[in-house]
Amino acid sequence: MLDYIVVGFGLAGLSFVEQLELNNRSFCVFENYSQKSSRVAGGLFNPVILKRFTPAWSAQEQLEKSIPFYRNIETKLQESLVIDLPILRRFNSIEEQNTWFEACDKPILNQFLSTKLLKNSNLALDIPYSYGKVKHTGRIDIKGMLSAYLRYLDQKKCLVNESFEYNELIINEDFVAYNGLKAKNIIFTEGFGIKNNPLFNYLPVVGNKGEYIIIKSEALQLEEAVKSSVFIIPLGDNHYKIGATYNHDDKSPEITNTARKEIQKKLERFLKVDYEVVGQVAGIRPTVRDRRPLAGTHPDYQNVHILNGLGSRGILIGPTTAEHLYNHIEHNISLSKECDIERFEKLR
Ligand SMILES: Cc1cc2nc3c(=O)[nH]c(=O)nc-3n(C[C@H](O)[C@H](O)[C@H](O)COP(=O)(O)OP(=O)(O)OC[C@H]3O[C@@H](n4cnc5c(N)ncnc54)[C@H](O)[C@@H]3O)c2cc1C
Repeated sequence: MLDYIVVGFGLAGLSFVEQLELNNRSFCVFENYSQKSSRVAGGLFNPVILKRFTPAWSAQEQLEKSIPFYRNIETKLQESLVIDLPILRRFNSIEEQNTWFEACDKPILNQFLSTKLLKNSNLALDIPYSYGKVKHTGRIDIKGMLSAYLRYLDQKKCLVNESFEYNELIINEDFVAYNGLKAKNIIFTEGFGIKNNPLFNYLPVVGNKGEYIIIKSEALQLEEAVKSSVFIIPLGDNHYKIGATYNHDDKSPEITNTARKEIQKKLERFLKVDYEVVGQVAGIRPTVRDRRPLAGTHPDYQNVHILNGLGSRGILIGPTTAEHLYNHIEHNISLSKECDIERFEKLR
């Protein structure tokens, strides 16, 4: 008898599996590579919403927990995954610059926004005003982390590279059974794939498609991430990720010409040197109507759980929510009302 079956291995699955590892629980992971949100993500962690200069939800707790969490995985997998990366906000007007200063004085934000404005010295970029610098930011090499973790799970013989077929799940009072496997619990972490899950598809996961282009530019020579109407994220070796788009309507997994054109148009407003588009990626963010994660236990089955709804900030939200959910399942500690799927009980 296993302790857990985990369905899906993006950021949500990884965050929960790591909790299981830390607590010496046995488990088996199913992954079918149907969703790509985590694998295409920019990987940035940033405690501030840069559109409005407001703190991201629960940013303080999430930063405190997530970075040691990823550092721990780095050590375990012997891979370099946490990249120090300053984020610079390009101001579009003096008014915006003033709003930044006002925000610098506000509680919570005062620890994340630098009051020292930076002048741009990179001629490849048109930066008419100064930059504002966000503190405590960086990038996680999520693609590398997921690949390395999957190899680790494969070696431990707890990875099944197969689609989980919902109609073959048997739920008993004390255990669940699936194709010869038995476990005390099952947890679904399928991202936007939740739409196919008959147990949880009543939850209001809206989904928001995001696309990035990857460019190569020798003339750009940028070492920080720059946020303007799009992000420029340095990947090394003269490669940069540019984007991302936000599209509520299109839920197809494919990359689109429309997104590429939109990103290039925005980029060319402030990038003044030649570049070549060398790639493009797309994924559906599992966003929720109220912009909070979905964690908890199925209302009818005490051994069926979910971790989803990480939205556009999975890197910071995943580890903390996974820890809360684990403590809820194992130690009966209540989840916050904001995250508990109980809030959507009426939708069933
Ligand atoms: C373009 C883009 C840029 C982003 N940039 C950032 C960023 O910079 N910083 C940040 O914090 N967040 C970012 N995000 C958001 C972040 O990626 C998401 O919050 C996160 O990926 C959600 O993780 P998840 O595990 O819930 O979903 P997913 O990554 O979609 O993982 C779900 C997994 O479940 C598997 N699965 C589904 N159904 C089944 C089944 N039946 N059987 C087996 N396996 C199954 C899928 O194949 C998939 O691997 C970005 C997202 C996008 C799309």
